[in-house]
Amino acid sequence: MHDVFGSQYEYFEKIREVVSRNAKIYGFKGIETPIIEDTEVFTRGVGKHTDIVEKEMYTFKTKGGESVSLRPEGTAPIVRAYIEHGLHTKPQPVKFFYFAPFFRYERPQAERYRQFWQFGFEAIGKGNSIVDAQIIIITYNILKELGIDGVLVEINNMGDEKCREDYKKALKKYLKKEATSLCLDCKKRAIKNPLRVLDCKKCIRVKERAPQIVDYICKGCRDDFRLVLEFLEEVGVPYDLNPFLVRGLDYYSGTVCEFFVPQRGEEKNLAVGGGGRYDGLSALLGDEQRPATGVAVGVERVVSLIKENGFNEKEKPEVFIAQLGDLAKKKSLKIFEELKKEGVLVTESFGQDSLKGQMSRANTLGVQITLIIGKEEAVEDRLILRDMDSGEQEKIETNEIVKEIKKRIKKIKK
Ligand code: AMP
Repeated sequence: MHDVFGSQYEYFEKIREVVSRNAKIYGFKGIETPIIEDTEVFTRGVGKHTDIVEKEMYTFKTKGGESVSLRPEGTAPIVRAYIEHGLHTKPQPVKFFYFAPFFRYERPQAERYRQFWQFGFEAIGKGNSIVDAQIIIITYNILKELGIDGVLVEINNMGDEKCREDYKKALKKYLKKEATSLCLDCKKRAIKNPLRVLDCKKCIRVKERAPQIVDYICKGCRDDFRLVLEFLEEVGVPYDLNPFLVRGLDYYSGTVCEFFVPQRGEEKNLAVGGGGRYDGLSALLGDEQRPATGVAVGVERVVSLIKENGFNEKEKPEVFIAQLGDLAKKKSLKIFEELKKEGVLVTESFGQDSLKGQMSRANTLGVQITLIIGKEEAVEDRLILRDMDSGEQEKIETNEIVKEIKKRIKKIKK
């Protein structure tokens, strides 16, 4: 465990500021859950046969005799809070972000602490490929804004419960044949939690010849995954497909990702964060199944990477994008990223389907311009530009929009 003070404290403050500003732009609200939870939140949520629960949790009995644990991660507590406060009755998905300390009894080594900080994002209650992609895009943008270059996203799709079960069976069968070549830990994992063998640093040769999940996922998961990749391509987030990326925890399903950054003078890239879909977690915690997706990033690792670089400062949103329909959503995402790349302070509420709700959000945020892409505009490749002060609206060609917005903002600023 370590103290945070001096320049490290300042880096923490800066990261928190960039995270919370971007979170607001993308419509995520802050949440703080308690540092201690009932142990069950993790044994049921994260999974009994994961390293985190089996080896790394600080678990103890209270004076009243309950078993509690210092939280080793943020997702299960946030889903516990979502269930406990009946948040399924709110507009979905409920989007949260956090910046908080976590605890894992790990072997101390470089870049690994027993108390470490993470920031993260969770979108719970409604899942689609655009939310999956957006979680990745927001993380990528934050790292970039913090001056971290060369971020690479490794990505895979773990299938839904049904296709993963088929895959697990095939993997178990294969691992049984290869049992003699497995390390001691993986001999146990092959029986209790075979996916974890794919995470093992020692069993690389066995892993390389193992069946791949991509051959087992159903058409629905495949289509979903293709859309996520298309979204990433459209906004220029670099990714690598990694068929063996499974993430260590039981609750992941569908799209999963990890973020890596090259380190100066080191051969190995540094893992800074990871996440993915976890549609099954709420059911593991006693609620019904609710689609969800999230990501967590290690703050100490981000600090070590930005120490050599500077920050890019940004301010409050100027433009809101409202959309209606799937095609419009897709086009909005692209325009959103294009405007962001050009330094325009843009925000949205892609999780909301009603135009009225989106317009009222644009009003609350006090943006100067709202762009509206309805079904008709999406097909015409045009969008409506609304000046929020005068209420005047006009249709503009999509490929003209960045230029037009920049021109108007310049005028407003004068
Ligand atoms: P995880 O929750 O295990 O997926 O980890 C997400 C990110 O949190 C990792 O990529 C690391 O950047 C960071 N992280 C996880 N465990 C530790 C630790 N013990 N010490 C420092 N950072 C950590």
